[in-house]
Parts: sequence; structure tokens; C-alpha cells
Amino acid sequence: MQTIQSVAEMQQWSSIQKRSGRRIGLVPTMGYLHDGHLSLVRQARQECDLVVVSIFVNPMQFGVGEDFEEYPRDLTRDCALLEQEQADVVFAPAVKDMYPPGYSSFVEVEGEITTKMCGASRPGHFRGVTTVVSKLFHICQPDLAFFGQKDAQQAMILEKMVRELNFPLKIVRVPIVREEDGLALSSRNVYLNPQERQEALVLSQSLQAARQLIMDGERDVEKVKDFIRNIIATSPGAQIDYIELNKADDLASLPRIEGKVLIALAVKFGTTRLIDNLLVEV
Ligand code: AMP
Repeated sequence: MQTIQSVAEMQQWSSIQKRSGRRIGLVPTMGYLHDGHLSLVRQARQECDLVVVSIFVNPMQFGVGEDFEEYPRDLTRDCALLEQEQADVVFAPAVKDMYPPGYSSFVEVEGEITTKMCGASRPGHFRGVTTVVSKLFHICQPDLAFFGQKDAQQAMILEKMVRELNFPLKIVRVPIVREEDGLALSSRNVYLNPQERQEALVLSQSLQAARQLIMDGERDVEKVKDFIRNIIATSPGAQIDYIELNKADDLASLPRIEGKVLIALAVKFGTTRLIDNLLVEV
């Protein structure tokens, strides 16, 4: 496995591999890897000849007052994990190489898909994501790019971007990996103290209970939201950012629950904001 830090060198490597006809799989991450990230790498390993994992804590997708500085980083440990997964390249560029002084180019997907849910709570976040992922696509030239269903809104936005801007690649979505007790793996889980860690279980528990309520016949969106809100309220430290039920293919609002529905939550425990989601089809 090689580690490449220079953007120019990475792009040259990708061009050479493409010319030799090899299929490149890209797994974009911000590092501090866990089993959720590694499930993406394993799927890429199965479907591609070469696997590139990028590790870049992208300042453009963090808002003022968010955790860019504190975001956990451990490149040595990440490289050891990726070596075990037989990744071919770790691409870990410096911020100044990705965004040199005077940088002013952006990629933006407009509309409801980027303005609701995390887009409402984190203005500018998705513009940062679509810009950095576009750059990574040009630099790494993947045939397939792997993203987690954990960040369902992000995956949906990137699929729209790829379709509308004709990027010559396919996005593959990978299911959410959870701890045994249901908590979705996240690099941010390390911020939680033991009590917050325990309370954070209301995310997956309320999603499961909401699914059951819908399976039992509830079709009223507001009633399902209230039901989730009441379960989350049993955790004294939980502050709800949003509870949303939207159409799973484009995040359009739903007058009633029908078809494929994405139930998505963002909840803060202390200073740590966690997200989770579940797909339900009725
Ligand atoms: P991040 O490093 O948080 O930007 O995540 C990098 C990629 O890993 C994204 O596509 C995430 O959706 C995905 N990911 C993060 N956590 C999980 C998880 N628990 N299960 C599956 N994929 C995940």
C-alpha cells in the first residue's frame, strides 16, 4: 500500500492506472477510521481492481464554531487498518494543496435536497462536500465511489451531482454499520462521555420503534414525528436538532406516509451532534 500526499502525484497515478484499463474504487473519508468506513473499503475491494481511500478533514464543510480543529485524527492508525484491508493507496492531501491561497471555485447542488435536514442546521456544509468530492473525483478518477447510507442526505446529493454534471462514475451506497447495541458507528462517538453514550441509544431505538408504528398502520407524518420526539425526550441530555420523514429518493415532503420513506434524525448530546436514519417502505 502506498501513501500519496501530493494532489499532482495522485492524479498522475490515477491517469496511468486508467490508461491500463484498471477499475478504480474510491472511498472518501475524513479518517479516524472505524468498521463503518472499513465496510466501504471491503466492498470497494470486492468490486474494483484498485482501491483508493482518501483521508482529508475538509475545512470547507465545517461551519464556524463546528469541530474542525478538534475532529479526531490518527493517520498512522488509519494506514495500519487500511493495510489490513488491502487498500492500494491512501490519499492524504494537505489543506494547502487542496485549497491553495486564493482558491475560489465551488460546486453546489441547489434546492430542497440541500436546504433541509443537515443543510438547514449546517449552512454551507453540503457546498463544502460537493466541492471536495468533485475535486477527489477529478484527482482519483474512480469508476466507482463508495458512500455510507449513514449520511443518506449526502449520498443522495452526490448521486444527483454525478448525474447532472455527468461525472463518468457510479456511486455505490453501503448500509449503516452499528455497534451491537444499535448505535451507528461514527468518528464523533469518541466525544461522548459514558452517560451520553448510553443516552445516544435513543436514536436507533426511536427509529426502530417508528418503523414498527408505521408497519402497524400509522400513516400520519406528524404523529410519527411526535412519537419519536417522545422517545427521545426520555433521554434528559438529548437536544433534538431535527426529526424528518421525507421521500427517500429526493427528500421531497410527504403529505402522508407512503412508498419509500427516509426517517432521519439529528440529535445533540452535550456538544456532540449525532445523526441516524432508517428507510421504511410501505
Ligand atoms: P466520514 O469520515 O464521517 O466523512 O465518513 C466517510 C464515509 O463513511 C461516508 O460515506 C460515510 O457515510 C461512511 N460512514 C460513516 N459511518 C458509517 C457507518 N456507521 N456505516 C456505514 N458507513 C459509514
